[in-house]
Amino acid sequence: VKHLYLGIDLGGSNITAALMKRSGEVLAMNKVKTLAHEGHGKITKRLIENAKALFADEPSLHRKNLKAVGIGVPGVIDIKRGVVRYSPNLPGWTNIHLREKIRKAFRVPVYMDNDANVAAFGEKWLGAGKGFRHVVVYTLGTGVGGGVILNGGIFHGSCDGAGELGHTTIIPDGPLCNCGNRGCLEALVSGTAIAREGRQAAGKDKRSLMNKLAEGESGKITSKIVFHAAEQGDKTALRVVSQVGKYLGIGVANVINLLNPQLIIIGGGVSKAGDALLKYVKAEAQKRAMKELYRCTKIVKAQLADRAGVFGAAGIAIHVK
Ligand SMILES: [Zn+2]
Repeated sequence: VKHLYLGIDLGGSNITAALMKRSGEVLAMNKVKTLAHEGHGKITKRLIENAKALFADEPSLHRKNLKAVGIGVPGVIDIKRGVVRYSPNLPGWTNIHLREKIRKAFRVPVYMDNDANVAAFGEKWLGAGKGFRHVVVYTLGTGVGGGVILNGGIFHGSCDGAGELGHTTIIPDGPLCNCGNRGCLEALVSGTAIAREGRQAAGKDKRSLMNKLAEGESGKITSKIVFHAAEQGDKTALRVVSQVGKYLGIGVANVINLLNPQLIIIGGGVSKAGDALLKYVKAEAQKRAMKELYRCTKIVKAQLADRAGVFGAAGIAIHVK
């Protein structure tokens, strides 16, 4: 293979790397633990060693054919300077010149971006967004991330911060968010928020299936349990899911009216939970968005699951202009 592209997804828990062709074909892929508490020095070293191991494992893949590297990093990134300014998931990563370190290790151009942007690009390139030009991606996990793809490329805004869909306000005096604001989408529909609402609801309804699934300890109720119980027809769990869908639908309606995208993709761990959520999201978005705009926007589930990040990382290295 003459043209190789390396994608790296640096997450709070895992570091994933993949060697890909321009076509999107995956030639090799591996994963190691991030061990975030070890700090940026050790993590950067592990990240580089892990990526180099892809070549060692596969004799047909030559380092000299590597054309570019792309990397997704959680946090606030200065894209022009290749600096991680701050990362809530990676303690101690303040003003780290990560791009230069990777460039020195591989001696090819390196492209760095925020992990949610990179995952959005991955979904647009090889997942549910294939063939679309204007795509907005929500990533529902412990938090709520987002990415905005306009005219086929990531939209960065004036200081690389665009796409913070999780921190748009849904309820003016709602629950406190990690960002300091109240009533953000993230404070209402993240896995953490869904678990919190599930616990509260199950506490009031002792007969809810959620209690049984948590072995009688309501403190053990996770978002997964909430969705599982809802799928089994548990009315209390369904009420939580419908509320979550409603909040997300409000956010989606705002995005539809703001950007008129062709496609809105709902991804992340929480979205794996089944189609019940999507149904509520669509119903609410339809109610609130302008009719003419809603009609030309599709709302779908993501397809790449946790590979969106690593694929998108290789993707930005391939598609950068
Ligand atoms: Zn927030």
